[in-house]
Amino acid sequence: MTSMGFCRLIRVSWDQALERCSPVFPCLSDPARRTFLGLKVALVMLHLIYVGVLFLFDTNLIQKTKEEPWYIAIYLLVFVATLAQYFFTSGSSPGYVIDAMRAGNESHATFRKTSMTSKRSASSQSGSFTIPIEENQPGKITPGNNTTSWAKLVMDMYPHGSSVRNWTCMYCNIVQPPRVKHCHDCDKCVLQFDHHCLWLGTCIGQGNHCRFWWYIAEETTLCIWTGILYITYLKANIARAWWKDGIMILLLVALSICLIFLLLLLLFHSYLVLTNQTTYELVRRRRIPYLRGIPERVYPFSKGICRNLYNFCCDPRRSIYVMEPLPTSQELEAKSRPYTCLDVLCCRCC
Ligand SMILES: [Zn+2]
Ligand SMILES: [Zn+2]
Repeated sequence: MTSMGFCRLIRVSWDQALERCSPVFPCLSDPARRTFLGLKVALVMLHLIYVGVLFLFDTNLIQKTKEEPWYIAIYLLVFVATLAQYFFTSGSSPGYVIDAMRAGNESHATFRKTSMTSKRSASSQSGSFTIPIEENQPGKITPGNNTTSWAKLVMDMYPHGSSVRNWTCMYCNIVQPPRVKHCHDCDKCVLQFDHHCLWLGTCIGQGNHCRFWWYIAEETTLCIWTGILYITYLKANIARAWWKDGIMILLLVALSICLIFLLLLLLFHSYLVLTNQTTYELVRRRRIPYLRGIPERVYPFSKGICRNLYNFCCDPRRSIYVMEPLPTSQELEAKSRPYTCLDVLCCRCC
């Protein structure tokens, strides 16, 4: 049999196997979901290989497990938590605009305008608009009038005189609040769009950016800890087969490359969190009309480091969609003012 014939035979067998599995696993019939499922399996396998090889080769580690079980117990806990966080993040919603719009309609909620708590913001007339997901807020939006209400609400976030047409998504046909972008992979508009993560198979936006940060932090911790265990094994002065060392060194090199990438990603996203920016806003700043004229060192949506951090991690408004209006020219002017000694003493950046 020629190699081409053999390849065709494999492809036909694979297609037949998928056809048989499709009724049991409907997701296998969709190529995109199949790819993502393959990625998930690869990720779990990769983690299992790293930990499995370690326990298989390192007899000292098994001895250490018997002597200090808590050490390995915590390591395995980090391992499980990382994988759980991966699935938790990949299954979470990034905050789709269409869902925010429906939530407003279905719960008949009031789009209430909340005043900002920081001193500078409190003095301005702008605030963030929030839509509760649960039916625990007073007030109503007239059903059937949702699209008009939505357009009115959104246009209030833009400077007076802005055209609805300029901010209507041509794919979803809904008016986009500021900081929203249409994701072509998800085919939906996403609130505070950061990026579409192929590794997680979902968009990263307002709804899951915090979970994404925690996932990177956990994966980095796991990588560092695994690296330490690998180095400890290689440094141990015991007789062992050369090929075991070879496998461990190869895995350690790959792990180091992943670790560098993860550390850079963690630092980058920490910077974004502290300045209340998204990857999309940072990379495409000159292409976003309302950010184009703002100086590079000015972070238009930042409310100070402490407030940004609080909103990102500990904001009690978990069950709501938050939409931020564009800052006024006075606010931008205040933010672009150079720092004086008094500003540093008063912690203006916080
Ligand atoms: Zn859209
Ligand atoms: Zn997406």
